[in-house]
Amino acid sequence: MVELFERIAQRIGDGGELVALTGAGISAESGIPTFRGDDGFWTRGSTNYRPEELATWRTFASDPELVWPWYLWRLARCRDAQPNPGHTALVDMDEALGNRFTLVTQNVDGLHSRAGSPEHRSYHIHGNLERMRCSAECNANTWPVPDALRVFAKGDAITPADEPLLRCPSCDAWARPHVLWFDECYDEKWFRYRSSMSAAMAADVLLVVGTSGSTNLPMQMASQALRSKALIVEINLRESAFSDYAVQSGGGLVTGPAGTLLPKLARRLASGSSA
Ligand code: NAD
Ligand code: ZN
Repeated sequence: MVELFERIAQRIGDGGELVALTGAGISAESGIPTFRGDDGFWTRGSTNYRPEELATWRTFASDPELVWPWYLWRLARCRDAQPNPGHTALVDMDEALGNRFTLVTQNVDGLHSRAGSPEHRSYHIHGNLERMRCSAECNANTWPVPDALRVFAKGDAITPADEPLLRCPSCDAWARPHVLWFDECYDEKWFRYRSSMSAAMAADVLLVVGTSGSTNLPMQMASQALRSKALIVEINLRESAFSDYAVQSGGGLVTGPAGTLLPKLARRLASGSSA
């Protein structure tokens, strides 16, 4: 047994609360690329776009027909992927701990939900590719990407037949992907900002899985968890921006793939504090 997992079990066994914070690394073993590497590129005509350029309100507002096909292609890839043992292990932890468990995910791929993580204990802090909302904010709803929309391959463009399906049914403005863009801010209404910070404040253990720490709210959560004396343990293939927080908290990095390590931790937690 990994020594740090034993320490997690001790803290949680005494009625403690566990917050799992996940990033793109947990879905890498399902075949969904992180943003690093060539897979992130999108090409139209002779121009290559990086996610940092495409995933912005500014780009969408000026050219929704550039941004939508990239999202619809990513959605198709995510729908083809299956949850892996890392996702399933977090469902097992949820079942073992009930309301002492909270999942906070940066992933927009829907794999945690498809694995069975309950929505009422899951905060999707960067949104969900499966849903869209009105870009003019004429109403406060999100709705599913319509089934009638065809499957997008890499390089496909929006056609006149697609366009009505990408419009708000109430006001006919463009719908937009329900995701947090690089030039937008976290909030409670769409992205559960305050709920996530409250969970970090109440956590006895913050388990950070497969994230490099390049986004803001996850780093704030780690900082808050450290101040509230939580044990911070990281699962990653390599060190990240969270590693120092983990060491300072008395925890550390467990190096290895999430799909192998999380099931070991889930089994340890299922056996209680005295195993
Ligand atoms: P990230 O910041 O979440 O970094 C990925 C991390 O995962 C790296 O630290 C890497 O070392 C680690 N990792 C890779 N494979 C792993 C494995 N098998 N086990 C454990 N750790 C592993 O990711 P990013 O790609 O830079 O994404 C930034 C943001 O973009 C995310 O926060 C997310 O919102 C979005 N994004 C989401 C998805 C998705 O939904 N699957 C994919 C790409 C990007
Ligand atoms: Zn509208």
